[in-house]
Amino acid sequence: MVDVILTGDRPTGKLHLGHYVGSLKRRVELQNSGQYQNIFIMIADAQALTDNADDIHKVRSNIAEVALDYLSCGLDPCKATIFIQSQIPELCELSFYYMNLVTVSRLQRNPTVKNEIHLRNFQQSIPVGFFTYPISQAADITAFKANIVPVGEDQLPMIEQTREIVRSFNTLYRKVLVEPKAVLPENSTCSRLPGLDGAAKMSKSLGNCIYLSDSSDEIKRKIQSMFTDPTHLRVQDPGHTENNPVFIYLDAFCRDEHFAAFLPAYQNLDELKEHYRRGGLGDMVVKRFLNEILQNELKPIREKRELLSTDLNAVFDMLKDGSQKARTVAAATLDEVKSAMGINYYKNGF
Ligand code: ATP
Ligand code: MG
Repeated sequence: MVDVILTGDRPTGKLHLGHYVGSLKRRVELQNSGQYQNIFIMIADAQALTDNADDIHKVRSNIAEVALDYLSCGLDPCKATIFIQSQIPELCELSFYYMNLVTVSRLQRNPTVKNEIHLRNFQQSIPVGFFTYPISQAADITAFKANIVPVGEDQLPMIEQTREIVRSFNTLYRKVLVEPKAVLPENSTCSRLPGLDGAAKMSKSLGNCIYLSDSSDEIKRKIQSMFTDPTHLRVQDPGHTENNPVFIYLDAFCRDEHFAAFLPAYQNLDELKEHYRRGGLGDMVVKRFLNEILQNELKPIREKRELLSTDLNAVFDMLKDGSQKARTVAAATLDEVKSAMGINYYKNGF
């Protein structure tokens, strides 16, 4: 079996550090490993509309922003098919058939849906499209017969739901669909990067992000105002490094060579943490260090992004080509699905 990757993002905002460490960096590595012939990267505009139906402009305008983020991080349209979800109508058709394989109570139990309903304050007014988006996500993954889905931790229940739909379909009809596997970042801190405010997840919808496109000054300002340890009031006080977002970001981004370059008084992160816990190390020193690391990581991405954004037509052409390619693949799967279900009447006969 060939390995096929599918993953994507909702165009609800520009991409942030959580996307970068949680999924984007891994995609670029997988793409450049040369081991995967088929890599599909989807801009999930239809899914974004499930909770933004009243703000089409937001979703529409962020398609180009997400595409720019992709290209500036190193996704390469010659190696990966980058496409727009709404341009593949076959995905809606697949979702429609999969809806019969899932119960309402199973969707209600999905922890990600539960949590997102709570975060969005929907209470009793949950749009049906939002409630059923795990099913549409199953259509996205299975349409490309993807077996590998690089995602952050919040997406694990979605992949599980897809696996259940695949098993039901293959048992009821014929073995057509492929069961996918979620691939999480190796560094567990990167699976769910917290927000600048210490919230459990950096998220576009919560506005607690450092964006890949932020200017150097914005990054600095955001780091300076980050939450740290509320019990570490004076420099000499002992501090806590766990649940301290500044140290969590260092866990995600810091490598030993950063000390030689930016903070030579320490050899590694363990030594820095030890000093903070003992007392005598101020938040500003640690934040300045984090700032150097992030500036260093984000500068080349931002510069590439600025260059690419001077020719948006080229970006839209790339998305159009990608969507055409993706559509051909999804249509072939839909054909197989309908044949397996016995509803391809005019092709297979009544
Ligand atoms: P929204 O608030 O609109 O849902 P989001 O910030 O959660 O946006 P998505 O487009 O839903 O971003 O997620 C795209 C991918 O990025 C998913 O694989 C998700 O797991 C991953 N991801 C998102 N936020 C984080 C984070 N803070 N840490 C690690 N991975 C993340
Ligand atoms: Mg999300």
